[in-house]
Amino acid sequence: MRIITRSGSSVPASDHADWQSILAASFRDAGSLLEYLQLSPELIAGDAIKAAVKQFPVLVPPGYAALMKPGDPRDPLLLQVLPRADENQQVEAYVPDPLAEKHSNARQGIIHKYQGRALMLATGGCAINCRYCFRRHFDYSANRLGRRDWQQALEYIATDSSISELILSGGDPLMLQDDALSELISLAEAIPHLTRLRIHSRLPVVIPERITDALIRRLEMSRLNTVVVLHINHPDELTPAHKEPLNLLRNSGTWLLNQAVLLKDVNDDLMILSDLSERLFAFGITPYYLHLPDPVTGTHHFDSGDDTALRLHHQLRSTLPGYLVPQLVREIAGEPYKIPYISLTSGQ
Ligand code: SF4
Repeated sequence: MRIITRSGSSVPASDHADWQSILAASFRDAGSLLEYLQLSPELIAGDAIKAAVKQFPVLVPPGYAALMKPGDPRDPLLLQVLPRADENQQVEAYVPDPLAEKHSNARQGIIHKYQGRALMLATGGCAINCRYCFRRHFDYSANRLGRRDWQQALEYIATDSSISELILSGGDPLMLQDDALSELISLAEAIPHLTRLRIHSRLPVVIPERITDALIRRLEMSRLNTVVVLHINHPDELTPAHKEPLNLLRNSGTWLLNQAVLLKDVNDDLMILSDLSERLFAFGITPYYLHLPDPVTGTHHFDSGDDTALRLHHQLRSTLPGYLVPQLVREIAGEPYKIPYISLTSGQ
């Protein structure tokens, strides 16, 4: 199989269009990604970039790369995945664990931050490595859960009847194969006080083939109300090829929400954010959160600043119907919920 790019050239994926074969054909070094995009290798020259890649490797699925504009070093999808020398700068207030998740690590693989919800790190792997990732320094080795550990990890939730929602996160929980995911859902369904299952994933966006028939069927038959929170930052990430798989997911009875991160030079622009909300809605996805980026070491260059965020959010509210305006939020360690950022004045 070859994936056709927007320029008409093609990129190899595999002979089988299953999601794992596509994932296996991902770009794993920035040089070949730049060559594919007809861009100069000078963009990644230097020891600082080598150090950044060593710390957080490059991973870009071929279909996602195919959506980037060849010859454009400022392409908003490329900027999300291309390592930069800035990642090595030490900037005050940027730390490896800004959300202090290690203090909410109730037990191996379980994070319990908020009332009524607990998060399980179902896997440490992702289908794409986003340079702004808030868990890029997370100690997955200390939180690795094998399939045999799930039951024990879920004991924590089973013994706390105040928890009604299980959040599967990671990494990306849809990196689990369908049979494994099905087993995990069954374990969750066996906990009587759980009523909701939420899955946070970027996989349906970067490899829409991940939305398999088996996944749809399993979600459809679950006794839990299911929610999939997609992580889509730019309207170019949603194409006609996503329409059918996302429709199938939605028709399984699954709520589709989106949380985007406000990223400098990627989406910190009124037209882009407005287009993103419109396109999400056209694909049956509710724009839910627009996150201010977390102050994670190595990601400061993605921060547009609070003033820009407030101004853009005010403009969005002035432009779109309320149901298309995501909540602008910041997560602050120790707070009982994500903190809404609201501009009350038109001057913001
Ligand atoms: S998919 Fe999510 S967890 Fe994985 S690298 Fe991207 S932002 Fe981080």
